[in-house]
Amino acid sequence: MTHYDYDLFVIGAGSGGVRAARIAATHGAKVAIAEEYRFGGTCVIRGCVPKKLLVYASRFHDEFEDAAGFGWTVGASRFDWSTLIANKDKEIDRLEGIYKRNLERAGVAIFESRAVLEGPHTVRLLKSHKTVRAKTILIATGGWPNVDAELEGREHVITSNEAFHLKELPKRVIVAGGGYIAVEFAGIFAGLGAETTLIYRGPKILRGFDEDVRDSLMEELPRRGIRIVTEKVFTRIEKTADGLVGHMTGGGTLAADQIMFAIGRSPNTTGLGLEAAGVELARGGAIKVDAASRTNVESIYAVGDVTDRVALTPVAIREGHSLADRLYGMRAWTTEYEMIPTAVFSTPEVGTVGMTEAEARTAHGEIDLYKARFRPMKGTLSGREERMLMKLIVDAKTDRVLGCHIVGPDAGEMVQMAAIAMRMGATKADFDRTMALHPSAAEELVTMREKWQPPASSSS
Ligand code: FAD
Ligand code: NDP
Repeated sequence: MTHYDYDLFVIGAGSGGVRAARIAATHGAKVAIAEEYRFGGTCVIRGCVPKKLLVYASRFHDEFEDAAGFGWTVGASRFDWSTLIANKDKEIDRLEGIYKRNLERAGVAIFESRAVLEGPHTVRLLKSHKTVRAKTILIATGGWPNVDAELEGREHVITSNEAFHLKELPKRVIVAGGGYIAVEFAGIFAGLGAETTLIYRGPKILRGFDEDVRDSLMEELPRRGIRIVTEKVFTRIEKTADGLVGHMTGGGTLAADQIMFAIGRSPNTTGLGLEAAGVELARGGAIKVDAASRTNVESIYAVGDVTDRVALTPVAIREGHSLADRLYGMRAWTTEYEMIPTAVFSTPEVGTVGMTEAEARTAHGEIDLYKARFRPMKGTLSGREERMLMKLIVDAKTDRVLGCHIVGPDAGEMVQMAAIAMRMGATKADFDRTMALHPSAAEELVTMREKWQPPASSSS
């Protein structure tokens, strides 16, 4: 009989890998996990969690400003970057400890080492030069930030990885990109007081999001001091005595103390020994998997950002959990990818679930739109000029709510709740029947009665 050291060997202790390892072990499997950097992976160490802590920090400035309209006199405020980073690091250390202890408690063998494949059942641990054999191998190695390979001066730019460890808050910062990370970090830097520029290659940031959401942020971010430069990319980064200068396509330069690239992430598959094991890759270097997260090699599975699915923590966790349940828990379920709620933690925040207006039109033809743009109640006394957006997209034939898009304070929190109803197939009539909670911003979701009509064009 073939001898295996483990039933399951997991490479990568991030969101997907940790969940799969822990659940498999609690089902009684003999499990090991290898991590080359820190336990918790991108989300805990240099993604969602530290990012959200920085987002919180960046929003206090608004609170101090808004307080005046409510009668408060706030003394001179001062922000200290080193305190924030030290406190953030302490919290991340704490969380990493919890992740590691939970694995140990579940009986998972831990290897603090880079691991590479040597065959369909064989993993080499680079620290000890040992090989181990496992009946099943799970690749959960996540992704890595991209920087243009051709960019001259690329050694001068940072990515989100380094942004979490800067020695000081840059006075002037440029963020390149127009997706989740770029928009979130532009908000962080601007809120903390840095002169912030966002440079994006297209005409409007957040491609793929509903057009009203995109328009709304294009209007709101400059209100908060973020300069948005569109239809430009950097062709060269130059280091000067005064900091960095980014040279742009079509001429022109932008100067800053730091330039952060947030132009997407690539799956961590390089040098992983995938060729040795015969694992096929999709375009862009992601591992190809089926609905059960299995690669073309029977004994090898992959979950999370290393596959070409949805690069979000809860998705990686579900993929890891369902795999472990299926393989070792006699519970067959797969991850569902419909109606995934998501937030962009910009300021103001974006929360979205379901289809965009354009997607709904293509998929369902006739749709009804409900939209509200209003000043949140807090803005009446604070004098803040921010507008909130609420938008529902409804299938005209079935009355089912297909999409919900919110821009404004707590948008993510609201959308998480709306997603439950929408996942259950809620109709607009169900929303309308729901009693409003007053006074709140969220009540707009159940009180919008008038179908939105496009404004009559001036020629008609
Ligand atoms: P990861 O969490 O990346 O874990 C992979 C692990 O594998 C890493 O620890 C890595 O060190 C290790 N590894 C790689 N190669 C090897 C090897 N050969 N041997 C051993 N170990 C290896 N998602 C959200 O849902 N909400 C958010 O707010 C959010 N914010 C984000 C903010 C930022 C700045 C970033 C970068 C990402 C954010 N994400 C967010 C995305 C989220 O972090 C990822 O989708 C999630 O972490 C993916 O989990 P994973 O298990 O696939 O990989
Ligand atoms: P995104 O895919 O969200 O955005 C990448 C951005 O970079 C897009 O604006 C894209 O433009 C632009 N871009 C791509 N290639 C180039 C290039 N060569 N030159 C200039 N610009 C370029 O990636 P992120 O890096 O922001 O984040 C990675 C993923 O992590 C996200 O997609 C998301 O799944 C996850 N994440 C989730 C968060 C959350 O849930 N809050 C927060 C952070 C990350 P274009 O649109 O024109 O292609």
